[in-house]
Amino acid sequence: MEEAQLSSAVYVNGAISDGSVAVVPVFDHGFLYGEGVYETLRTYHGSPFLLDRHLARLRNSASLIHLTIPQSDSELTAAIAETMGHAALEGEQYVRLLVTRGVGDISYDPAGCSAPTVVIIVKAHREISSKDMEDGIRIITSSFVRNHPEAINPRIKSNNLLNNALAMQEAIQAGAQEALMLNYRGELSECSQSNVFLVRQNEVLTPPLESGLLEGITRNFVFEVGAHTDFTVRETVLRDSHVHEADEMFITSTTREILPVTRVDDRPIGTGVPGPVTLTLATTFRHQAELLSGGSDR
Ligand code: PMP
Repeated sequence: MEEAQLSSAVYVNGAISDGSVAVVPVFDHGFLYGEGVYETLRTYHGSPFLLDRHLARLRNSASLIHLTIPQSDSELTAAIAETMGHAALEGEQYVRLLVTRGVGDISYDPAGCSAPTVVIIVKAHREISSKDMEDGIRIITSSFVRNHPEAINPRIKSNNLLNNALAMQEAIQAGAQEALMLNYRGELSECSQSNVFLVRQNEVLTPPLESGLLEGITRNFVFEVGAHTDFTVRETVLRDSHVHEADEMFITSTTREILPVTRVDDRPIGTGVPGPVTLTLATTFRHQAELLSGGSDR
């Protein structure tokens, strides 16, 4: 018998169902305490992009919360493929892979949790709108300080997202599309769901990991993409004051790739339209992603 095709598919510990009915138990420490880690991926030409790097970061995040993921990379890869196979999706797919501490008692003691919960959510990937790409987006500077690395290290891609969610709610209220967050020293760290770059005299600058941020897979890929261009891409400590002196600005993430930012807090960046360095990097990024995914050289 042919398997029913679903428009979104969710894998929970080996069982795949439609997103509207998929559940995890309320005693899962992921639900009770936000105790878990995750990755967001997207496909190009139907295959999850840079999957090996996402799995490596997932394991690193897990180790930073003392969580061992029992499944091997090939088992997780097979589970992703199986879940993708169940979703009736045309075009590119969004994949969210989550691993929580698992079901236990109402206690912080992880010893009471028998096994981690593995969840894989597959749904349609929504491409960046061409309007956002052409006009650039407006973002705000959040009043929420990014988590102190010695409190909750932003390098842990954790399900505990309150810091990010509160910052993004502020942006949504202001009608903006992202929230730029400073660290406790007042340095730029990252945005609520993306990394941040400034362009100054053809140099492409991004805060170092010591500024307290997630080591974005896309951020790292921008360094490789930069090597295919004439631009230098490097890390440096950036402050609020650098934002309005910048010629160009952009954010990076798996789902938003390289997206120009043309206004911050109602002030234009540079000329107020996406700049040539950002656009060259965005095109080169897409080109490299397509090539690595076995697609045509468009
Ligand atoms: N920073 C934060 C806080 C994020 O949530 C994300 C999105 N995962 C990023 C940066 C970008 O990371 P990536 O390029 O790996 O998607």
